[in-house]
Amino acid sequence: MTASLPTLDVAIIGGGVAGLATAHYLLARSPGTRLAVIEGSGRVGGNVRTLRHDDCLVDVGPDTLVTQDGASSACDDLGVVAESPSSAAARVHVAHDGRIDPMPEGLVFGVPRSFAAIARTRLLSLPAKLRAACDLVLPNREGDGSLSVVESRLGREAKENLVEPLVSGIYGGELERLDAGVVMPQLAGTRGSLIRALARAPRRIPKMVGPARGMETLVEALACSVSAERIFRARRVVAIERGRSGERLRFGDGSALDATQVVLATPPHAALPLLRPHVPELEGTLKARMRSAIVVVLAYDASTTKLPDGSGILVARKEAHAFVGVTFVHAKWPTRVREGRAVIRAVIDLDRRPDLAQASDDEIVRAVHADLSRHARVDVPLWAHVEHYPEATPIPELGHRARMNEARAQARNAGFSLVGAAYDGAGLAGCLRGARELAEALAGG
Ligand SMILES: Cc1cc2nc3c(=O)[nH]c(=O)nc-3n(C[C@H](O)[C@H](O)[C@H](O)COP(=O)(O)OP(=O)(O)OC[C@H]3O[C@@H](n4cnc5c(N)ncnc54)[C@H](O)[C@@H]3O)c2cc1C
Repeated sequence: MTASLPTLDVAIIGGGVAGLATAHYLLARSPGTRLAVIEGSGRVGGNVRTLRHDDCLVDVGPDTLVTQDGASSACDDLGVVAESPSSAAARVHVAHDGRIDPMPEGLVFGVPRSFAAIARTRLLSLPAKLRAACDLVLPNREGDGSLSVVESRLGREAKENLVEPLVSGIYGGELERLDAGVVMPQLAGTRGSLIRALARAPRRIPKMVGPARGMETLVEALACSVSAERIFRARRVVAIERGRSGERLRFGDGSALDATQVVLATPPHAALPLLRPHVPELEGTLKARMRSAIVVVLAYDASTTKLPDGSGILVARKEAHAFVGVTFVHAKWPTRVREGRAVIRAVIDLDRRPDLAQASDDEIVRAVHADLSRHARVDVPLWAHVEHYPEATPIPELGHRARMNEARAQARNAGFSLVGAAYDGAGLAGCLRGARELAEALAGG
């Protein structure tokens, strides 16, 4: 690749969902745009990875899309058939105090909408239930905007056994440092009872779907719509040089590509080194604590396996488990797993288990199997798959959104665009929405 190639209108750095979707929406709005998606690794999709093995289909990375933000219409438009998780699998258990108990129904991220919802749960002791009920009578108090409000209003046990397993399982990080406005906007600005605030808020249960043939079919459909000749794989951008008429993207082998506009669809830690020389003020804003994870898929002989009912187990922080959560894939997506198999997908958060960062795959598999054996009857796994996700997802800590908005504005002032999970919301639906909005702005500008 040399700079003698015609100058592109738009170069998109990063071929994850955000980068591909930006290209897709931009071409839909403005088909004549000369653009390229430049991906550093040998494959597009970023975090999205679908394992097809032994007649089983397992989304190792993201497996569901929240249908808000037009995510399901994006699937429809691309001809990707989406399905809902099995309703039989709606129930989830929480591992706490050496045992598992079902999460009560009707909670919002583990926070009850009424005292009745937690009156009978075995996840809380009687004193903890009474402590949680104090939420209804405690005086109003200004919070710091973090989810520390959960413990101060509902008590420690409700935080540890109801809210934290779910919220930290999804976002990583500690409740005391997570931004309530990002994770639970219904509670943002609440000074008084959380139970009452949720009871007052419109009851919107986000609908989840997943592409029936795996999340990679969404990536394949996006890539197909963008078309192969516009996607460059295994081309890591190592520098951006500014010229009079645009930007020159420099690759490791010294080759280059010119573009009038540059979109960075990468996490902040990958964007900052490229932008720092041109926008030094980003040093103070374009940073996010990232979560590193390991995902382990284990397949068992279903005839010798006895798992709890429901779709999986979440783990309270004080339980010394390798994984923060495990999904029973055959229960959640029954048509994706061949008869006779029980397939589980466990997520290890390396913040909680830094010791496993250097462990061998065998050691990781053994640790997950041993933890699962505490709550289920499982024989030796028939096969296993281990996938590493270093610095994969931004943790929405207090101030994250404001910092990202500021970074975006600073980058925009210098002529660069930022898109993706760090800026538009941690999930795929946010990435798709952010990509659509950016494409509209680029096409209109
Ligand atoms: C285990 C796991 C489970 C998840 N589950 C869900 C879920 O169920 N639902 C959900 O909505 N979300 C989920 N997520 C989050 C979701 O995966 C992310 O929101 C989404 O994939 C982020 O997409 P992105 O395009 O912003 O970034 P990425 O997917 O990180 O893509 C960025 C791309 O940029 C490339 N890149 C970086 N630097 C350069 C460079 N210098 N030059 C060229 N290319 C570069 C990278 O190689 C990568 O391909 C999950 C994430 C993980 C890790």
